[in-house]
Amino acid sequence: MSYVTHLEAAIDGTRLAFDELQTLHEGRPLWVRYDLEAVGAAMTKQAVADRAPTMWRYKELLPVVDESKIATLGEGMSPMLRCDRLGAALGLRDLWVKDESQLPTGSFKSRGLAMAISRANELGVERVAIPTAGNAGGAMAAYAARVGMEAYVFMPADTPIVNQYEAAYYGAKAFLVDGLINDCGAIVREGIPHMGWFDVSTLKEPYRIEGKKTMGLELAEQFDWSLPDVILYPTGGGTGLIGMWKAFAELAEIGWLADERRPRMVSCQSDGCAPISTAWEAGNRFAEPFPDATTAASGLRVPVAVGDFMILDAVNESGGQARSCPEQSLLDWARRGAELEGIAFAPETGACLGVLEMLVAEKAIDPDERVVVFNTGAAQKYVEVIGTEPLPQLPTPTDWDALG
Ligand SMILES: *Cc1c(COP(=O)(O)O)cnc(C)c1O
Repeated sequence: MSYVTHLEAAIDGTRLAFDELQTLHEGRPLWVRYDLEAVGAAMTKQAVADRAPTMWRYKELLPVVDESKIATLGEGMSPMLRCDRLGAALGLRDLWVKDESQLPTGSFKSRGLAMAISRANELGVERVAIPTAGNAGGAMAAYAARVGMEAYVFMPADTPIVNQYEAAYYGAKAFLVDGLINDCGAIVREGIPHMGWFDVSTLKEPYRIEGKKTMGLELAEQFDWSLPDVILYPTGGGTGLIGMWKAFAELAEIGWLADERRPRMVSCQSDGCAPISTAWEAGNRFAEPFPDATTAASGLRVPVAVGDFMILDAVNESGGQARSCPEQSLLDWARRGAELEGIAFAPETGACLGVLEMLVAEKAIDPDERVVVFNTGAAQKYVEVIGTEPLPQLPTPTDWDALG
């Protein structure tokens, strides 16, 4: 059972069939469209509340037809944590973190890949391939393993070591490429006729957006169907930001939102790789490839995003911004956040905190506004980043005075 009516090309509105494998149209991504009137009639808040705490609780707004084909590791319903100590450090009184570090494979990539692999499984795919900056490869490998699919993962040679190991650990054929994620993407694209795999790259198939959309659905449910004032999202390919903005539109359409308020969506990057903020600041709808992309926040090291206009449209429709913060500020804020709140902040999230500091200073955010930051991954996956300062020789406890 599914309420999907068709797929729609984001660039020109062309309708495409839902019941076959689809990729891009005119080189650009697709939207999944639902019969929202029927969804509104079939789905109730109480029914959702009574279901298991995973992202699949919103099944009427999701694209899987045959539930037996779902690849799941229990992903979804990540905690929404109030952060008063970090809020005080940033000058905010109503700061929240949606902590995606606790999801399977330690990042929010599990949402998108669970959905993409489930649909691919449903449509008979037996071999998948992905270019990855890190976490997507591990997530795809895990979900492919879950349904017995063959997985190929291509990543830059300097991808965090945990990402390299996890892809291999889940049984994928994993490869290191001398280049960036777009070079990995070229290998996946060129390999299609030789290897017969299905390309699960960010936004190159329609369903990763639908998986990431569940972050917006959950956030709404966790705030009793009323949305916050501002959402900060660390942007690489932009799937999550695009997906959440879609979620809010769909919830509004089925009449579930308590009021008219929509969050200002803030896309956050590092100044070491800032194609989206550069385009936004120039007032452009499409982004130029960012030269010499470097950042320790590997998930943000995406110099070219095929959904650039979808990110920028969502940011602009929401009255938000696309900004970047200095690379050092991102690293400092991630660590400071971890010390203040005990949350395993990923370096990517540090970009949100760095941008948040800038926006508060510019008075673009009022101290009493409700602000939500997405912690998209777990610090534990970035051992070489968080361990850049060599660990001090930890002492053996002797007498109380020495404990400090
Ligand atoms: C992939 C990734 C991002 C960027 O997500 P997009 O949806 O591609 O913009 C941010 N943070 C982490 C930890 C990631 O793995």
